[in-house]
Amino acid sequence: MTDARLKSWVQSAHQPACEFALQNLPYGIFSDPRNRQPRVGVAIGDVILDLSVLESAGLLAPDGAASPVFAAPDLNAFIALGRPAWRSARARITELLSADNTSLRDDALLRQRALVNMAEATLHLPVEIGGYTDFYSSREHATNVGAMFRDPENPLLPNWLEMPVGYNGRASSVVVSGTPVRRPNGQIKLPDQERAIFGACRKLDIELELGFIIGKGNALGEPIACEQAEDHIFGTVLLNDWSARDLQAWEYVPLGPFNAKTFATTISPWIVTMDALEPFRTRQPDQSPEPLAYLRHAGHHAFDIELEARLRPEGARDETTISRTNFKYMYWTMAQQLAHHTVSGCNTRIGDLMGSGTISGPTPDSYGSLLELTWGGKNPVALRTGATRSFAEDGDELTLTGWCQGDGYRVGFGRCTGKVVAAYPA
Ligand code: CA
Repeated sequence: MTDARLKSWVQSAHQPACEFALQNLPYGIFSDPRNRQPRVGVAIGDVILDLSVLESAGLLAPDGAASPVFAAPDLNAFIALGRPAWRSARARITELLSADNTSLRDDALLRQRALVNMAEATLHLPVEIGGYTDFYSSREHATNVGAMFRDPENPLLPNWLEMPVGYNGRASSVVVSGTPVRRPNGQIKLPDQERAIFGACRKLDIELELGFIIGKGNALGEPIACEQAEDHIFGTVLLNDWSARDLQAWEYVPLGPFNAKTFATTISPWIVTMDALEPFRTRQPDQSPEPLAYLRHAGHHAFDIELEARLRPEGARDETTISRTNFKYMYWTMAQQLAHHTVSGCNTRIGDLMGSGTISGPTPDSYGSLLELTWGGKNPVALRTGATRSFAEDGDELTLTGWCQGDGYRVGFGRCTGKVVAAYPA
């Protein structure tokens, strides 16, 4: 199914940099001027395949579906059918899009109804997200932040190497790529003033992360074993965990971030499935000390996903790539995060979103936040326009991209974009 030789009759899927090859087939929710109703599609080349059309035409029926699941404004009903249905749908869509399959290729009327130009479509949040949790699992990121704010000699807190540290985020403000992000107001404690002031965030930042979507929940009280945890994951998205560093620094003691993180979290519109990621599985970093038994798993549980962050100021033509990193650097794996999340008995539900934590690599150009890239604002990054940035300014458009490089094809995520708009008058 992930054979590099797979070819589609959708010619645009074979462009070298095309993120939506036949090997990818990510799921999303879209609408278009012909049909304003949000529904399920998969991205292939520069078009979207409308699965609701195929389903009603009798060409696509996932295992176990008693009623239509693709004429829906989110993917939750399809995901609830379980992995056999995900696999059968993927196999059938691959078949229908394959170069030598005629059933859709040679049916002009059906093709015209089922294929939508991506450039004309509006993409929506792909799942209904009941809960959002954010981890802190990049050793390089935690080390950088610890060195900046605590002790450069001893940057990691003692718990960090024992568990994937996390906190419960805010699901209601998770937005799809393209949604403007309003600069938050809040309490800021300036070093030269005795009391906090109230005002617009002055240190607005991004966090380059990968999110995963729960595909199979667990009952309250019943943990998910680390060895089985990947069976509970439907797929992955790019995630920008926007952060107000000045609000965060004042509010986070002792219960962790609150308003500094709750104003917006942007995700990419396409969910790249675990089946599509499978060829890019790789070895995770060595873990020392050996994790406690409930956090152990045999085999390879990291994924080789190239990641970039880009910034385009208001009115500028070009983006500047400000960071290049890779998901494979993550110290704690998605499986370990999910095992740790549920070991207390905490339940998860279909559609829940889990953020990896900022993904920083080993070199200064691979850091996943402006905080690290500029070292707290001390070393501003230079943009192609000649301007510099310590933190995000109003009008800046911040974009995350990500892709797995196969042999002659890409499994990509599309863009995860948000443009900063001015704060409400304080
Ligand atoms: Ca984060």
